[in-house]
Amino acid sequence: MAPHRVQWVGGSGKGSAVLTGRPLALLILAWSLLKVLVRRVFRRDESGLEVFHRNYDAEGLVALAPEERESMPDFSRCIACGRCDHGEASRIASSSGEYVGLMQLVLASSRNIPDFHAAKRAFAHVPDEVLEQKSRICPTRVPFQAIKRFVVSKALAWKHP
Ligand code: SF4
Repeated sequence: MAPHRVQWVGGSGKGSAVLTGRPLALLILAWSLLKVLVRRVFRRDESGLEVFHRNYDAEGLVALAPEERESMPDFSRCIACGRCDHGEASRIASSSGEYVGLMQLVLASSRNIPDFHAAKRAFAHVPDEVLEQKSRICPTRVPFQAIKRFVVSKALAWKHP
């Protein structure tokens, strides 16, 4: 830690000292604690959602609803076995690069909000009845249709900054 000159003005005049190492670390910690405590006194408590909006609205990111949060474990059940990609070759070939298979959609594009527009376009290449059938053959019963609904709704709500 670089040396730091500390100056003060008191009843007996002015003074200064150079702090290094542990004393400097303690001073910085104490100063940070004091700032946090003062901020708490003068700022009302914000909910986590308010903090989320303050931090991410400018980036256009959207918050999850409580029921969407509850669905996340179901959306994350993929074990990357590749079974759902069997029979997808013709859809992949005719998609002009928009769709590269269901496993990639479940493991990657549907897990990152900025990718949801691309994921929405990819899902459009797979009919709902195929998604339903793929859920039945998936060993972990990944709910493809629910993931599609989630991705499409968030893509529509997400505004590019
Ligand atoms: S079949 Fe299910 S577990 Fe296997 S890759 Fe597809 S989504 Fe993942």
